[in-house]
Amino acid sequence: MHEVIDQLHQDDKTHVWHHLTPGAAAEAGLPMFVEGEGLVIRDSQGKEYLDASAGGVWVTNVGYGRKEIADAMHAQLTKLNFFASSMAGVPATKFAKRLLEKMPGLSRVYYSNSGSEANEKAFKMVRQISAKHHGGKKSKILYRERDYHGTTIAALSATGQTQRRAQYGPFVPGFVEFPHCHEYQSQYELSEDKSYGVRAAQAMEEVILKEGPDTVGAVILEPITAGGGVILPPEGYWQEIQRTCKKYEILLIMDEVVCGIGRTGNWFGYQHFDIQPDIVTMAKGVASGYAAISCTVTTEAVFDLLQEEAGDELGYFRDISTYGGCQAGPAAALANLEIIEREGLIDNCRIQGERLLAGLEKLKAKYPIIGDVRGKGLFVGIELVTDPVNKAPVADAITVGIAARCKALGLLIGRTNRSFTAANNILNMSPALIATDADIDKILSILDKAFELETTNE
Ligand code: PMP
Repeated sequence: MHEVIDQLHQDDKTHVWHHLTPGAAAEAGLPMFVEGEGLVIRDSQGKEYLDASAGGVWVTNVGYGRKEIADAMHAQLTKLNFFASSMAGVPATKFAKRLLEKMPGLSRVYYSNSGSEANEKAFKMVRQISAKHHGGKKSKILYRERDYHGTTIAALSATGQTQRRAQYGPFVPGFVEFPHCHEYQSQYELSEDKSYGVRAAQAMEEVILKEGPDTVGAVILEPITAGGGVILPPEGYWQEIQRTCKKYEILLIMDEVVCGIGRTGNWFGYQHFDIQPDIVTMAKGVASGYAAISCTVTTEAVFDLLQEEAGDELGYFRDISTYGGCQAGPAAALANLEIIEREGLIDNCRIQGERLLAGLEKLKAKYPIIGDVRGKGLFVGIELVTDPVNKAPVADAITVGIAARCKALGLLIGRTNRSFTAANNILNMSPALIATDADIDKILSILDKAFELETTNE
């Protein structure tokens, strides 16, 4: 067995080009995870880890080894594996109906295969609406500093992370950035009558006015900025964003790729903030990573704008995707949604998220390098600073060091990375929504130990 694993490790080093991994790190060898159940995964050496990163990138909402999902996929694939997504399909239809029950005000589901692709579809919709209904003039899409929307060139053109974009230009024209809303690192002089949230949202309106409202078709935002550092919207922010979009007839696209399907203690992140988006994109948690499936969900109004009319045979949405909505993906998504409902995981996420945050507040009181802890549901971040007053970020090595110490102690957590943000000083955690009291307490005790070791330099 060991020989087989050793050979696999060797082959991995020789043949596989890993994401975000410089050559030298790949040379050193990465752990190879071989099995998992619930929140626990095991590597090829038999070492166990509690995975508080949901598969590394906020994916496995219902945990590992869910036989119900594998069985649903198996049943569908042995019955039919047909790929013309323009035809009706049983799992795609069933999942769309169940999903839309969770999303009042939205009524159409367009399937694709990844978060980037779901966002691309949204961009194409905006551009086609502009071409059909505004003479091509209202085609710009605004995006926010620090938000991430994907890896394809258009999705990257809509991504507000300088390091992530570096060396991949030229970018797609028509995407314009506006400032972030990270209150902890507030960038504004505030007056008494204006909260940070309102001020930060007005920064978007300023960009709209500068570009010309008639030229802006949509804005895209994450409900809670994920990879850019678990940034929660400040009080009053969303109301102001929604008001501005309505005022200038600009579509509001919510990128729920990370927050969607329960992660924040609601079916969708935007539902915490009492707003009504025009388009919602989602991926990752849709099938908890058991299948590659994503959705672009729209209102009936958006759908209607992209229907063919007499004399305009190009007027319908002429997008296509080989795998979108076929067939194992929606079968997995349906089984995933049923698990979340049956096991009450949205409520559990809220309860355990509060337990996790309360524990992190205690660690913050103990370790001065913890400047801020924040989160919603089982999606939390820890911002590390040199001191709580000037809030300057710690050196990269400290963030990396704490994550590495957690790993050595059997806990997987996430962190910002220099390729995402200017400062690599934010840790994040997103255990599966099945987490128990004992899981949360274990996460907290390992974190405590990791901070102790890192701050005493042992
Ligand atoms: N949007 C957000 C908010 C994301 O975090 C990601 C992936 N990390 C994407 C879009 C892109 O999703 P994918 O990697 O599935 O293309």
